Amino acid sequence: MTSPILLAVEGLTVSFDGFKAVDDLSLYVERNEVRVVIGPNGAGKTTLLDLICGKTRATDGSIKFKDTELTRLAEDKIVHEGVGRKFQTPSIYENLTVFQNLELSYPKGRTVFGSLFFRRTPAITARVKEIAEMIYLDDDLEKSAGLLSHGQKQWLEIGMLLIQDPELLMLDEPVAGMSVVERERTAELLNRISTNRSVLVIEHDMDFVKDIAHKVTVLHQGKVLAEGKMDDIQKNERVIEVYLGH
Ligand code: ADP
Repeated sequence: MTSPILLAVEGLTVSFDGFKAVDDLSLYVERNEVRVVIGPNGAGKTTLLDLICGKTRATDGSIKFKDTELTRLAEDKIVHEGVGRKFQTPSIYENLTVFQNLELSYPKGRTVFGSLFFRRTPAITARVKEIAEMIYLDDDLEKSAGLLSHGQKQWLEIGMLLIQDPELLMLDEPVAGMSVVERERTAELLNRISTNRSVLVIEHDMDFVKDIAHKVTVLHQGKVLAEGKMDDIQKNERVIEVYLGH
């Protein structure tokens, strides 16, 4: 039987000049789970995602994704294993259309070798349209990405990751700067994504966290302070003291 655990982080530590930004941290994310990581500034949330996607190297501990140990793998290999990461600032091609942005992110187009022989096939077009529909941009396929609203740009970038078919999607404050309607649609999108993938999100917007989180992990000083359902987390006295009470 397939293990329900998709990502197992154990004893993860990273030191910057002796300062432990992530300190003996363990975290387990299940398949089809939306996990939200919260905590005060400097708690180590971004560093945790950087470690998982290979941008930062761990000093100690392990990150197991399915059966693969990620701590020694290069960033592109980690993407290949099925881990997609979206940063806060969108990295889309503003002068290209929505269609072209999605098409370029299609796995075959990613390498120089692949792009030399890249041909638009009916299968690629169908996949681009399917993703565009998911991210509410099916009426904007021929629009320049630069003309999209801030929220639509965030969705496009999520679509550019989805087209690569990751099993784990990591998002850093996806609704920052979004309108209320865009925020609601993003929650709906993440709920749909988690029917067949896991999502690991850093978020400060507690209303949004309540809408999406299956489980919440609270970080403080590089360690897990609390973990559980949002209802319980909100009542946790230590969490209120270091984070929610502010
Ligand atoms: P959060 O995302 O929770 O706000 P970060 O992961 O960005 O926290 O940072 C955790 C701590 O690690 C902070 O004190 C930050 O200054 C420090 N830190 C992060 N990256 C580096 C780095 N490359 N070099 C030195 N210190 C760093």
